Amino acid sequence: MGYGYTGNILRVDLTNEKLTVEHQDENFYRKYGGGSALNMYYLLKEMKGGVDPLGPDNLLCFSTGVTTGIAAPGLSRLVVSAKSPLTGLAGDSQSGGFFPAELKFSGFDAIIIKGKADRPLYLSIINGTPKLHEAVHLWGKDTGEVESEIQKEVGEPKAMVLQCGIAGEKLVRFAALISMRSRANARNGMGAVMGSKNLRAICVRGKQRPEVFDKEAIKALSRESAELLPRLGGLAKYGTPSSLIGKHDTGTLPTRNFNSGVFEGANAINGMQLWNDYLKGRESDNQNKEGRATCYGCNVRCKRVVEVKEGKYTVDPQYGGPEYESLASFGSYCGVDDLSAVVKCNELCNRYGMDTLSLGGTLAWAMECIEEGLLTVDQLDGIDLRFGNADAMIEMVTKIAQRDGVGDILALGSERAADHWGKGHEYLTTTKKQETPGHMPHIKLTCGLIYAVNPFGCDHQSHEHDPVYEEGGYEPYEDRLTSIGLTTPQPYMSLNPEKVRFARRTQYFYSFDDTMSWCQFVWGPAWHVYGPDHAVKMMRAASGWEDFDIEELLTIGERRVNLMRAFNAREGADYKLDTVPEKFITKGLKGGPTDGVKIDREQLQAAITEYYLQAGWDSESGNPTKKTYERLGIEWVAEELGM
Ligand code: SF4
Repeated sequence: MGYGYTGNILRVDLTNEKLTVEHQDENFYRKYGGGSALNMYYLLKEMKGGVDPLGPDNLLCFSTGVTTGIAAPGLSRLVVSAKSPLTGLAGDSQSGGFFPAELKFSGFDAIIIKGKADRPLYLSIINGTPKLHEAVHLWGKDTGEVESEIQKEVGEPKAMVLQCGIAGEKLVRFAALISMRSRANARNGMGAVMGSKNLRAICVRGKQRPEVFDKEAIKALSRESAELLPRLGGLAKYGTPSSLIGKHDTGTLPTRNFNSGVFEGANAINGMQLWNDYLKGRESDNQNKEGRATCYGCNVRCKRVVEVKEGKYTVDPQYGGPEYESLASFGSYCGVDDLSAVVKCNELCNRYGMDTLSLGGTLAWAMECIEEGLLTVDQLDGIDLRFGNADAMIEMVTKIAQRDGVGDILALGSERAADHWGKGHEYLTTTKKQETPGHMPHIKLTCGLIYAVNPFGCDHQSHEHDPVYEEGGYEPYEDRLTSIGLTTPQPYMSLNPEKVRFARRTQYFYSFDDTMSWCQFVWGPAWHVYGPDHAVKMMRAASGWEDFDIEELLTIGERRVNLMRAFNAREGADYKLDTVPEKFITKGLKGGPTDGVKIDREQLQAAITEYYLQAGWDSESGNPTKKTYERLGIEWVAEELGM
């Protein structure tokens, strides 16, 4: 037994209601670490290609990392993976909060679930003892009610509950998993996979603290965070919503289904407005405590808690508050400048269990279809879902969660809805069937590249963005970027081989975060609280792997990306899926500093080709070569794929 991990992986067979415990050795943890690399190991080894993502043969995997449960900033995260019902490819989503640390304290590093129960159940793990419980009485209830009832039933008021919500029960393709009523494993539809298995929730509680190799070194790193915190600027105090107004000012705030980068209502929905008007406890002098929530062991406290007590839309603070992405998706994406309506949609997503980004993207797409005359109000059950109509947006959110009327079609996501109606494809903002996050690839060119090649669809937290590697903007991050071999910053709007190398190496760093289950605001290669050298120190102190270095860190991240690409290759995916929405290439943005800007098809294609070359992926298929799997120590994957 090594340090940091329990060595216990819980196997749950829902069809036969059988619970077993599997043990892995030190070599396994050093190679796969945790998070989605560990999950992909099981998904590749134990599942066949082509399974129905909403059928019993899909495997649903929950994994922490070797440092989860350590009381230091940014270490309590959980990765959930399965075949995605939204993309049909490797599904992957992360969340923070207290559930991940509590899972480790309950005695397990990971849970692997297969099969389907013949009636609703939930799983509890209390102090090392897993048990399945009846959940018929919980089916159809809001996440808040379900969390309270489960805590009461297991006799642990502080137990952590992760659940699929009503949207997951109804198999909404972008259903999320929710813990603490406010933290979401949002992307890729993991909530629908859990709902398809008739599993409503997982509840964990325990006292088993992981043993670490060097407690004093960890304490020193933890103390150092206090002096490093100012690196985050407004992020710590105002959270991610603080970035919205800057995006509008630079013409990079996705507006009206990505038709523009400027939103005339940006001031009304920005992070400062949220702080002033709706932050819980703002009237008192303790707003830091009530309005700023956190994850286990983290002193950043970036999470918002909002409350709207009166007016047309009241918002219950038990469901937390929005990130920038949610403000943008229900605000500027949909042309809505009523902040209370935007935070109401965020509340409904946490109440029902839905991804705010895919939902907002789907609504914005439907709005453009109505505006352009492709869909009629009649087709949308009489709801006038136009840009700026907050009432219509809120009504449709509930219909989608319940799969009521036209909500049944929109619950498929925008791309499948376009296929259903046979129209509107030219307005889609999807990559690999997933709606685009609020960072515009028109301007951040490496976002276009990584959105295209990323195995689980477009994702804004899969690499470092262009501004930190810009000539003139590099200096504040120079020491950290140099330590991962990035020494030659480039002009902002370039997408040359060095810029591709920057995107790829930082992608591997972020991928390492998602393997160890680390928070990407705290641990990263540039502006973050901790940099690459701190990451190496933490890994050595936690695990006792005294020869762990930056190259091993990057290789772990690269291995995870390649495991996911292998999963996709088994599903028949190739280079054809590596693209960005056609709309971003053919239609220039309207207004503001980015008026007329669009993605250059040839420039993007050249960057994708260069990425394949640098990554060791086949230039024709776009999939990793046998040699690459061997270099990464996962030659068994090549065998699995019959190479
Ligand atoms: S920075 Fe924010 S999201 Fe990350 S661990 Fe800390 S509180 Fe959680």
